[in-house]
Amino acid sequence: MTTALVVVDVQNDFCEGGSLAVVGGTKVAEDVAALIASGTYDTVVATRDHHIDPGTHFSETPDFVDSWPRHCVVGTEGEKLRAPLEPGLFDETFFKGEYEAAYSGFEGSSASGTGLADWLRQHGVDAIDVCGIATDHCVRATALDGAREGFAVRVLESLTAAVSPDGLEPVRHEWAQAGVTLAE
Ligand SMILES: [Zn+2]
Repeated sequence: MTTALVVVDVQNDFCEGGSLAVVGGTKVAEDVAALIASGTYDTVVATRDHHIDPGTHFSETPDFVDSWPRHCVVGTEGEKLRAPLEPGLFDETFFKGEYEAAYSGFEGSSASGTGLADWLRQHGVDAIDVCGIATDHCVRATALDGAREGFAVRVLESLTAAVSPDGLEPVRHEWAQAGVTLAE
């Protein structure tokens, strides 16, 4: 098995002080940076929410289920990776959501237009460890899509942060049904 680390949406707007802050986001950024520095993974990629005009994904009166405050707008500080993460740490970055909501990193494309699944296969990857923000939204969707695409998927839950930490049981159930495992 060749396992890649997939770091989902660890961006300023999803961390403390951001427009759609998730408690624990900054700690995820620090802990993921330490994991990358440990050299455990030969292949490390990032996904980024990358909005231009995503329609009803943004709302002045968000329901925090299908609509959200403005976040991760292209060209803003909020869209950038949360320090100490930075683009140079990643073998490739996949951008998603320019003109519509996109929760899964598998909806993203690299700057050269390659989708995440194709890129991973081209690099001989057959398993992914998924971490990032938010556990119950973009990490959830990325893990499920990864399993659908035929990758062995593990979620590093201690390296995630959730919008609703008390509501994760149904998410864990969905992952289990899809064959997604949780790291120790
Ligand atoms: Zn978004």
